[in-house]
Amino acid sequence: MKADIIVIGGGASGMMAAVCAARQGAGVLILERMPRIGKKLLATGNGRCNYTNEHMDPACYHSRNHAQIAGVLEDFGAEDAIGFFRDLGILPKSNDGYVYPNSMQAASILDCLRFELERLGVKVLENKNVRQVLTKGRGFQVKCGDETFHCRRLILACGGRASAKLGSDGSGYTLAKSLGHSIVPVVPALTGLKAGESIYKSLSGVRAEARVSLYIDGKLKDSHRGEVQLAEYGISGIPVFQLSGQAAYGLRNRRDVQCFLDFFPDMSEAALLELLEKRKKQFQGRDAGVFETGLLNRKLIQACMKLAGCRKPGTLPDMTCLAGILKAFPASITESRGYEYAQVCAGGVDLSETDMKTCMSVLHPGLYIIGELLDADGICGGYNLQWAWSTGCLAGNHAGKECHDSNRTN
Ligand SMILES: Cc1cc2nc3c(=O)[nH]c(=O)nc-3n(C[C@H](O)[C@H](O)[C@H](O)COP(=O)(O)OP(=O)(O)OC[C@H]3O[C@@H](n4cnc5c(N)ncnc54)[C@H](O)[C@@H]3O)c2cc1C
Repeated sequence: MKADIIVIGGGASGMMAAVCAARQGAGVLILERMPRIGKKLLATGNGRCNYTNEHMDPACYHSRNHAQIAGVLEDFGAEDAIGFFRDLGILPKSNDGYVYPNSMQAASILDCLRFELERLGVKVLENKNVRQVLTKGRGFQVKCGDETFHCRRLILACGGRASAKLGSDGSGYTLAKSLGHSIVPVVPALTGLKAGESIYKSLSGVRAEARVSLYIDGKLKDSHRGEVQLAEYGISGIPVFQLSGQAAYGLRNRRDVQCFLDFFPDMSEAALLELLEKRKKQFQGRDAGVFETGLLNRKLIQACMKLAGCRKPGTLPDMTCLAGILKAFPASITESRGYEYAQVCAGGVDLSETDMKTCMSVLHPGLYIIGELLDADGICGGYNLQWAWSTGCLAGNHAGKECHDSNRTN
C-alpha cells in the first residue's frame, strides 16, 4: 500500500501531524499498534485532558538542546493550540492557566481529532505494530508483520515508553536509532520517587502542602511547592513529579539523590522554632498529643517527632531538632517509580539531529520526528501535550506542503 505520508503512531502528535498534512492536500495514512488511536489521550489530566497552558514558557521544558524549545513554541504555541481546537468545536476552560475542554472530558479532544481525520479522508489502520523502517530511493518502506507500506514522507510519532499499556512501548527509539539517529538517554519523568527511609511505611495516604527540594550529590538542583502525597514506597504528587526526571537522571548516573520536604514553606526555621517553643510552654505538663494536635496531619507530626529523636510516646523531642525535621523531612531517593507509572519520558531523539523549524531529520530528508519521542519533556500542566501539538503541526504542515509541491511539479 502507498501513501504520500505515513504517520507511525496515532497519539496526540501523530493525529495533529496527520490533520495538518491532510489539510495541505496530502494523502495520509496513520499506522497505530493499538486497537484504537488516542488511547493515552483519554487518560490525560485524569480523564479531563489538560491540553495546554496559558503560561507557556520554554523554562517549563527540559532538553539537552534547550535552546531549540523556544522557537517551536513560538511557531505553534498555546494560543494556536486553543485556536486549533476551538475551530474543531472545543470550548476551552482555564483553571489557573491550565486549559481543559469545557466538557472536562478528554474524549472530546479525541473525538474532535477523529472527526477531523475522517473529514479530511485520512486513512487509519489500527493493530499495525511497525517493526521496521527502511529508506528506499527517495522514500521509505514501513514494515508491520507481513505487510509493507510505501511512502515519500514518514513521520515518526511513536511517543516514548511511559505507561506502555496505553501504547507507547519504546519502539519509536528503536526505529529512530535504526535510521541513524542518536538517542539522549531516556528516563521516566512525572512520576513518584521511592525513598529508603522506613518511616514512609507509617505515612501511607498522608497528603500535605510542602516545598520539595532536590539535591544531587549535596547540591540543590531544583525545588517545587504543592500538595505532596506520602506513600508506603516514598513520595508523590505534583511537586515530586516536577523533580522526578532530574532525580531519575541522578540515579542513572549513580549520584547521591536526596529530597527534603519543607512542611512550613512560609516560615523561616527560626520563626518555626519560636512557634514550637511557645506551644511547648502553652501546653506544659499536658500530654504530647495536645502539643501535636492541629500542627500537621497526625501521622505526619508523629513521624516528625520520632525523627526528631522522640523515642517514648507522650514525650516531646528537642524543639530545635523538631523544627529542623519539619523544614527538611528527608527522603533518600533509591529509585523512581519507573515507566509504568510515569506520565512521560525525559530524553529521546537528539534535537540537534532535527531541524526544529519543521521537525525534519537532518539525516534523512523526508523523515520527521515529533512528540515525546524527541528529547524534550515538560513539567505537569499541559506542557507535554502542547509539545505534541506544536511538533505535530510543524511536521504535518511541512510534509504536507512538500508533497503538494512535488505532486504539482511531477
Ligand atoms: C496518565 C497520563 C496522564 C497525562 N496527562 C497529561 C496532561 O493532562 N497534559 C499533558 O500535557 N500531558 C499529559 N500526559 C503526557 C502526554 O499524554 C504525552 O506527552 C503525549 O501523549 C505524547 O504524545 P505523542 O504523540 O508523542 O505520544 P503518544 O500519545 O504516546 O502516542 C504514541 C502512539 O504511537 C503508537 N505507537 C508506538 N509505537 C508504535 C509502533 N511501533 N507502531 C505503531 N504505533 C506505535 C502508540 O500506541 C501511541 O498511540 C499524560 C500522560 C499519561 C500517561
